Amino acid sequence: MNPEEVREVAAGGVDIQLHTHRHRSPPDEERYRAEIATNRDRIVAFTGAIPRHFCYPSGVWMPHFSNWLAEEGVLSATTCEPGIATGRQDRFMLPRLLDHSDVTPIEFDAWLCGLGAVLPRRPLAFPAIDTDGKPLLGQLSSTSVPVAASRVYQAPTHEYAKTSTEHSIER
Ligand SMILES: [Zn+2]
Repeated sequence: MNPEEVREVAAGGVDIQLHTHRHRSPPDEERYRAEIATNRDRIVAFTGAIPRHFCYPSGVWMPHFSNWLAEEGVLSATTCEPGIATGRQDRFMLPRLLDHSDVTPIEFDAWLCGLGAVLPRRPLAFPAIDTDGKPLLGQLSSTSVPVAASRVYQAPTHEYAKTSTEHSIER
């Protein structure tokens, strides 16, 4: 989306919230928080509203990210872990449905009514990232560091390619 498109959908009622600005997850606090701050500043400039909620790019997270997000005034964060959020959940580890072209309309309906959470799922895997914290497209690895604690919904390579184009605002 370009800035004008962001303004237009925000004016139409779409709630624009945070990501890391360059779709990366730097392993150090200064660069990670700078990603959040840059993204927030752009969203405020385009929409006039202060975003307070965050989605981990490609589901990449480490336990200390929560503290850094809280320091940035973030109130909640979603992973790529499919599931239904409950009131007992860590507000920085909320599950979500990652909607994509492989999700059929009936699967989507199942998630809307809550049944999707109990249906069989594809296996989870670790994401591979480069030293800058940028996910390597389509590469999954159980030995990837420094996100040993993180997991993402295992998806076909084309899904990552689609995600990159969907987030063109982040460039
Ligand atoms: Zn993304």
